[in-house]
Formats: sequence, structure tokens, C-alpha cells
Amino acid sequence: MRTTFVTVLLILTSLCLVTTAKFHIQPTPPKAEDDFTLVKVADGIYAAIAKPGGLASGNAGFIASDEGVIVFDTFYTPTAIKELITAIGEQTKAPIKYAVNSHYHLDHTGGNQVFAAMKVPIIGHAKLLEWETTKNKRFLPDAAELARRRADAVKQLNETPADATDKRTQLERQIRRLDELASITLTNPTETFSSGTRKLKIGKREVILFTLPGHTGGDVLAYVPDANVVFTGDMSWRKTLPNLVDATVNDWIPSLDKLLKDYPTAKFVPGHGEVATADDVREFRNYLENLHTRVQKAIADGLTLDQAKQQLTLPEQYSSFAFKNFAVPNIEDMYKELQGTKGK
Ligand SMILES: [Zn+2]
Repeated sequence: MRTTFVTVLLILTSLCLVTTAKFHIQPTPPKAEDDFTLVKVADGIYAAIAKPGGLASGNAGFIASDEGVIVFDTFYTPTAIKELITAIGEQTKAPIKYAVNSHYHLDHTGGNQVFAAMKVPIIGHAKLLEWETTKNKRFLPDAAELARRRADAVKQLNETPADATDKRTQLERQIRRLDELASITLTNPTETFSSGTRKLKIGKREVILFTLPGHTGGDVLAYVPDANVVFTGDMSWRKTLPNLVDATVNDWIPSLDKLLKDYPTAKFVPGHGEVATADDVREFRNYLENLHTRVQKAIADGLTLDQAKQQLTLPEQYSSFAFKNFAVPNIEDMYKELQGTKGK
């Protein structure tokens, strides 16, 4: 009797395994859930945490009251922000009153055209009027280049066997991203400011926008006093190496010190990575300081840029960080900043 029971159990278990294996053989078509995860940060405040390889790329989020919603950042693509607008509609019936751009980089402004079409005001740093539709072209290949990359990905997909599902899914997602990029019209914010604060009211809820230098020189953050939440955009990254292409690390470290001093107990929604605490912001600040110290020493030791890039390896404590492809560019950007040759 016991043997029969065990046999039945074994058969059931192997059936389950077969079903699971079969499930994995099915190619999974790309879908909205692949783009971001909605995380509740406080009452009416949500972070939309981007998933790797999806259409969101950078984090976004929203702040709601009974009377209105403020969307912070517009993701990488129009489709991703439309997915967020749908998700907002599932949480509240209040209308979207404002969108905010934390900075110009495409992974935070790629959905601007959706809000422009809805006649929702888009608020950003005044520098965006110079950079949004010009410097962003470095992140948005032209139509011919997008078509070339798409044809290449389609060719690879056709040559990939049906049972190489991971590879096929990756290529399908790449094609989906390229199609989405082709649909972007770089779109300026409609209202800007460059210093001090800008206060937004949605019903009883107040949201204070402010700027800090360091990441691009045109960054806007949002503080929600009644919930003690700060949306930092790319001024803070959680367990993720940053993009320093436009950065001035020398300004960035004091900006993070100010952020930690002004909001010591806040919850932080970073530009990349999960919802963060002050300790996470401090860890990121210390990464920048560590980078600064290592590169400064390399220069003092007479290392050339190429030698510094080869010899300065990422310290062990950052080995679990995402975006490790930025490790070497971080050395180069820091080196050039310290030499005064960045952007020249
Ligand atoms: Zn970003």
C-alpha cells in the first residue's frame, strides 16, 4: 500500500516536472509585466521599478491624492508610460495633473510625447530645453540605424533554433525595443525652473520639486512631506553603477550629503534599482567617493587613462551591483573630470 502511494507520488512529481519543462519550451511573447513592477511606497505613492531588457529602462513612479496624480519620470518609451498610466487608473480615479522629468536622459523622458498629447503639463529643469531634443540623440539612434539593428536582430532570430527559448525571447524583446524607439518623438517639458523649489498641490497633498547638481547639471527631485518620500531620479542609484557621461562627481558627493542631511529618515525612489533607504543612498555616495579617491591616486601615480582603465578594477564590495558595464566608463569619466578634459 505504502509502495503504491510512493509510486503515485513519484508519477505525480514527474508529471509536474514534464509540465514545467513543456511550459519553458513555449516562447513567451513580450508583455507589459516585463517592463516594470509597481511597488507601494506609502499611501497613494508608488514606485515603478524598471525590469532589465524591457521598455521602461529607468524607474518612474507616481504620487496620488483624491484630487490628482503627479507622475515622476516618463520611462524610455511611449508604450511603457502608457502601461503606467493604465496601472495608475487601476489605483485611482483621480486625473493626472502633472508629469515631472528628473533629467533629460531618454530612459526618463522617452514617454513625454504621451503626456504632451494628453495636454498634461510636463515640468523639468530649464536645461532640458537645451538638451532634451539635442543631446538625447546620443541615446536614440536615427531611423536608418534602428532599421539596420532590427534587420540584424530578425536575422539572428530566424537563425536561432526553436528550442533555444532564452535566446529567442531575448531577441524578441530586443526587436520590441527597437520598434518602440522608432516611435519616439523627443519632446520638451512645457514648464521649467532652474533654482529654488517649485511646489505642486494635488488636493491636500503637497509635492516639493527641487534641483541638485552632480548627475547632469539639470536634475529635478521631488519630496512628499506628508509621507517623507523622495523621488531622486538618477541623483541616486541603488546597488547599481551609475552613468557618469554628463556627471560632475565633485558636485555630486556634496549634493548627496545634503540630501542625507535634509531627509535622514526618508524613503527614496532611485532612478535605477529598488526602493531605497538613507543607508542605500550613503552606499551610493561612498561608491562615488571611492571612485574619486582611486582615480585621483592613479593620476598622482602617473597612470595614463588607458593604464587606469586597465589597472583599476571594481572593488569587491560593489561586485553585486547592476550595470557593471559602467565600471570602466566610470574610470574614464572620473579621470577626465579630474584632468579637466571631460566633454572636450
Ligand atoms: Zn537613468
